[in-house]
Amino acid sequence: MLLEVRDLYVEFRTRDGVAKAVNGVSYGVDAGETLAVLGESGSGKSVTAQAVMGILDVPPGRIAGGEILFQGRDLLKLREEERRKVRGAEMAMIFQDALSSLNPVLTVGDQLGEMFVVHRGMSRKDARAKAVELMDRVRIPAAKERVRQYPHQFSGGMRQRIMIAMALALEPALIIADEPTTALDVTVQAQVMDLLAELQREYAMGLILITHDLGVVADVADRIAVMYAGRIVESAPVHDIYKAPAHPYTRGLLDSIPRLDQKGQELYAIKGLPPNLMDIPQGCAFHPRCPMARDVCRTDVPPLNEVGEVRGSACHFWRECLNG
Ligand code: SF4
Ligand code: MG
Repeated sequence: MLLEVRDLYVEFRTRDGVAKAVNGVSYGVDAGETLAVLGESGSGKSVTAQAVMGILDVPPGRIAGGEILFQGRDLLKLREEERRKVRGAEMAMIFQDALSSLNPVLTVGDQLGEMFVVHRGMSRKDARAKAVELMDRVRIPAAKERVRQYPHQFSGGMRQRIMIAMALALEPALIIADEPTTALDVTVQAQVMDLLAELQREYAMGLILITHDLGVVADVADRIAVMYAGRIVESAPVHDIYKAPAHPYTRGLLDSIPRLDQKGQELYAIKGLPPNLMDIPQGCAFHPRCPMARDVCRTDVPPLNEVGEVRGSACHFWRECLNG
């Protein structure tokens, strides 16, 4: 396993109490594999990724337990200096909002080149040539000229390609993309996602794709981990999930994807809101919103039951759910 997160707990201390953002998450990704992490906002999917990257800082987050093994080392035991070396060179992150992640007063060529100057000790001239090469790789037309332009001179989709280029620059073993296409319109979304998938295969990287949209991951992910209230509620190969979900929450997410063959029909929406992380419901955290909830759901936390060899569901009634 390239990356293995084991029983991770993360909490945030706020004036109003302790928010339990991640409550015992375990997942892994291999080289050349794509894991999609799916959930609503506040499900802990981004916080888990930030813990992996070592950028858990605003507001002060605390890792309350667990291990993060990357290429065999426990990242939580590294000093900040060693951690910084891993970040960027061995694992990189792509965010939703390229405009706020890029420096507005530097040309994209300087920003891309900076990676090679700082991490590889290249001359400015060589770094510039590398920047052009990378822009070509992510298919930005006229890279030789555009390398001198500033971020605001690019469209949203092109800026996201620049973010991908920055993440790829040092050929990391792992990329984490947090809602990389959410800010883009649908056609551009598909193009950027295809590019990411293609580069991931070519470089044989591990890719963690964080999204709230089950619709965008069908073609690119190998596995899906569905998160709710800081826990993984279902984990399975992508095709199994689309064929038959083994958790009512996953079913709700699937039913809320617009489908071409059901044009005009009203979309299903999961009723209610995600829980307050300072006051997570007893038993199954999903019970207040679950159409299948029974008494036991209000008292007993469902463990991640083995549904198959490589599949798990944290629902007491996963069999029923699976059989529709
Ligand atoms: Fe619904 Fe109960 Fe399953 Fe939770 S354990 S998802 S409340 S049926
Ligand atoms: Mg997020």
